[in-house]
Parts: sequence; structure tokens; C-alpha cells
Amino acid sequence: MSEAFYSSGLGFECRRCSACCRGKPGFVFMTRTDVLRILKRLRVAYPAFYAEYCRTVDTGLGMALSLREKPGYDCVFWGEGGCSIYEDRPVQCSTYPFWASILESRARWEEEGAYCPGIGRGELRSGSSIEERLSERQAEPILIFGYSEDPAAADIEVEDSRG
Ligand code: SF4
Ligand code: SF4
Repeated sequence: MSEAFYSSGLGFECRRCSACCRGKPGFVFMTRTDVLRILKRLRVAYPAFYAEYCRTVDTGLGMALSLREKPGYDCVFWGEGGCSIYEDRPVQCSTYPFWASILESRARWEEEGAYCPGIGRGELRSGSSIEERLSERQAEPILIFGYSEDPAAADIEVEDSRG
């Protein structure tokens, strides 16, 4: 098998432009671990979290759990100071732009640079650190509910939500 194009590293440094958090429609899908981490941070139970911050998206295989967007397409967690749950943000956010779909080819990586000005700039991220980001994302699937399930009633509970 030939080496991945990123094996000798890729430049990336977030410019804090916020383009990946606001201003355009998109989805922020979550794993069960993401949800548990955010529930703990917000000290809310899942039904309340679902009602205020979540929506579902039809994937063709079921309904995937995603964060809501505010009017104007800002993420529901975007605020004046940036991401209000930054340390506990979903893995989809913390691993961007090192996603398998973006790393499928150099051309695709460079194309993403039109959207994310951090791509190709700053610090060189090693091939192994990029592999780690990919593994992090692949470690757990996003939550997808069956069409007959009620996503608001999912059995997701933090043992001690008072932290
Ligand atoms: S689009 Fe890129 S540079 Fe801008 S905030 Fe997101 S990761 Fe950072
Ligand atoms: S959860 Fe935070 S990092 Fe992720 S899209 Fe929303 S504001 Fe951005």
C-alpha cells in the first residue's frame, strides 16, 4: 500500500476565524461520549439537553444526533467569546480538519483550504499526530437512532450530573 500523502506531515494552525462554527449551515454530529461529556459540563439531564441543543438528521440509515444552529447558522454553542463548551466540544470539532473525508487526497485537503484559512499555515503536524486525530474520530460511531425510536427519550445518563 502506498504511503498516505500526509505521512510526512501537514501544516495547520487555527486562525480563529470561526468559519467552522458559524455563518454556514452544517452538522455537528455527536457520539455517546461527546454527549456524556457535555451533559456533565452543563449539569443537565439528557432530555433537557436534547430539547435545547439538539436536532436529528436523516442519514438514510436512521436519525443522527446533531447540534442545533441558531438563526444565521451559528452553532448553538457559539457565543461572543467563541465556543462556550470549547474544552468539552464534540470530537468532530476537536479533530477538524483532520477528517478522513478531507484527508482522502492532497487535492481534497487543499480544496478545504478555501474554507479553512488555517490549512497549509503554521506548525507542521506530523503524520503520526494526524493518524491519532483520525483514530480519535473513528474510535466511536456517532449516535444514530432508529426511525421508530424517540431520540429525546434515549437512555443517556451521567452517573452524577452534579459533577
Ligand atoms: S475554519 Fe479553520 S482556521 Fe477557522 S476557526 Fe475553523 S479550524 Fe480555525
Ligand atoms: S460545539 Fe463549539 S467548536 Fe463545535 S461547532 Fe459548535 S461552537 Fe464550534
